[in-house]
Amino acid sequence: MSESHNVVIIGSGPAGLTAAIYAARANLEPLVLEGEPSSTSDQPGGQLMLTTDVENFPGFPEGVMGPDLMMRFREQAQRFGAQTRYEKVSRVDLSERPFKLWVGDPDAAQPTYLAESVIVSTGAQSLMLGLEGERELIGYGVSTCATCDGFFFRGHTIAVVGGGDSAVEEATFLTKFADKVILIHRRDELRASKIMQDRAFNNPKIEMLWNHEVTQINGDKKLAGVTVRNTLTGDLSELDVTGLFVAIGHRPNTDLFKGQLDMDEAGYLITGPGMATNVPGVFASGDVQDTTYKQAITAAGSGCQAAIDAERWLEANVHA
Ligand code: NAP
Repeated sequence: MSESHNVVIIGSGPAGLTAAIYAARANLEPLVLEGEPSSTSDQPGGQLMLTTDVENFPGFPEGVMGPDLMMRFREQAQRFGAQTRYEKVSRVDLSERPFKLWVGDPDAAQPTYLAESVIVSTGAQSLMLGLEGERELIGYGVSTCATCDGFFFRGHTIAVVGGGDSAVEEATFLTKFADKVILIHRRDELRASKIMQDRAFNNPKIEMLWNHEVTQINGDKKLAGVTVRNTLTGDLSELDVTGLFVAIGHRPNTDLFKGQLDMDEAGYLITGPGMATNVPGVFASGDVQDTTYKQAITAAGSGCQAAIDAERWLEANVHA
């Protein structure tokens, strides 16, 4: 037998858990399907689980560890009656109401859950280089977020990988802190917009390392430099950097919704008005629909909006 709910929230980063707090306080008894702890792409707690100190989340003047912050979000949601489960949704059918969600076998005849409304907060994942030690050193020298971690590299020599707007923007931002930022790009021409390129070329703290790719991340408990390869000659060399910012793009976690929810070319869900998707009763919040800000606080804010939108929608269409 499928279990029925008013609101099922998929994902438990700042967006999903804030939606849960608001939905629970509106007596909607939300169920949060958090995903599986073993994942490093759409894990419970979201991308903050892969960071260390968070110093820009308001309300924590001393800073807070990413995982601790997410534990507090979860506890706050549970305090008001939200149920949270470490379960990964394997299939959804949003073609009619109640919406159907499967956990486990996606071919099972009966869905695991029926939901009158769904809030999608599955987040996004930073693309990584795929090198050994890279994920283990996130928060210990390796980062995917200059806004979050730049502050820790005051006076250091660090590197950014990538050639798009993200990499150039991060490199430029990081010069506020670092003495030198080496921008490592695998070709001899940037993909970033002209204005961003000019800004980088005119910044005396940014040094371009053209035609190079990172082949090895050095260090055990903490980053201790990287090995780079010249893509033209094949020569290897060492870069003595204490920070490596990987800025080669993001991928929203939206595979589950392909063909059912409207997405842009990069796979981000399209929302609006408010946090509504193209399917009435299905809302989206957080990085899964945010191509611009991608901050914990903006994700939390949009989770609040999604819960309020869902509450109003249920009131008008289901509980009326
Ligand atoms: P992007 O435009 O896809 O650029 C990714 C960059 O990473 C490319 O230069 C690519 O190299 C490089 N790359 C990819 N895989 C790599 C690998 N395995 N190893 C080394 N390098 C790799 O991604 P993005 O910079 O995140 O930008 C995404 C979108 O957001 C773009 O449309 C961008 O304009 C927009 N954006 C705008 C702003 C802004 O306007 N302020 C800021 C950030 C992002 P190649 O060039 O060789 O392919």
